Amino acid sequence: MLSGKKGVILGVANKRSIAWGIAQAAAQAGATLALNYQSERLAASVRELADTLDRPLVAPCDVTSDADIAAFFAQVQARLGALDFLVHAVAYAPKDDLDGQFVDTSREGFRIAHDISAYSLTAVARAALPLMKDGGGSIVTLTYLGSERAVAGYNVMGVAKAALEASVRYLAADLGPYGIRVNAISAGPINTLAARGIHGFTKMLKHHAAMAPLRRPTEVAEVADTALFLISSMGRGVTGEVIHVDGGYHCIGLVPRDEPSQG
Ligand code: NAD
Repeated sequence: MLSGKKGVILGVANKRSIAWGIAQAAAQAGATLALNYQSERLAASVRELADTLDRPLVAPCDVTSDADIAAFFAQVQARLGALDFLVHAVAYAPKDDLDGQFVDTSREGFRIAHDISAYSLTAVARAALPLMKDGGGSIVTLTYLGSERAVAGYNVMGVAKAALEASVRYLAADLGPYGIRVNAISAGPINTLAARGIHGFTKMLKHHAAMAPLRRPTEVAEVADTALFLISSMGRGVTGEVIHVDGGYHCIGLVPRDEPSQG
């Protein structure tokens, strides 16, 4: 499906990362990859995972640093030449701003959440543009329903995700003439490092599995398969879109009191 394609995947921290699920699926589908790590603290674990793939480029990139982004994409250009896809699976908000109520969000917490979780998509899309603009490409980011509805504990991340989804639409409009598509996947809750920073996450997981039409948790592999669809030529007509991969949770108003009998 991705044979001969070259892509960057940002956001692998450990084996539970959604970015890692996408990296494995993309490598399996034949893609050549470049991965980043946020800081030296994560370098060893990302390199260890990368060693299980076919020699991807692995280099540091903290998305709050324009110098890091420039250096990372210079290495990508040197190693891969052109790029066919870019996956952005990066987010962060300070814990203090996730623990309390949204009304107490600090100015600095708001700034950090938006810089890392929303602005960084535009910054890396701009860096990828020279490597994509001749052959077209696909950019995919990760979002969550907390952008559309007030979800307890998601707080300022929800507001940052709303900015991220708006950025997807503006980037899709800007980059479409170059044949570059920009989309987001709105994933259901998955037990990762970032998710564990959300107060009451375990309760959120259980609630989701009980209420979603598919009555089960969202799996990384389901998100990765949708990412492959968006990255590959199968998704060639789709841009500016937010696709929910959440077992249908987003469409539910009231769950029927009685489950249909099985058989
Ligand atoms: P994760 O903790 O594995 O990944 C988050 C990544 O963001 C990490 O690799 C971390 O190093 C990176 N990051 C944070 N600050 C950074 C910075 N300044 N520079 C570079 N990288 C930085 O968790 P995940 O759940 O796999 O998160 C990936 C994406 O999926 C995020 O955008 C998250 O909001 C989104 N998402 C997650 C869920 C979920 O329930 N896990 C649901 C919907 C959307």
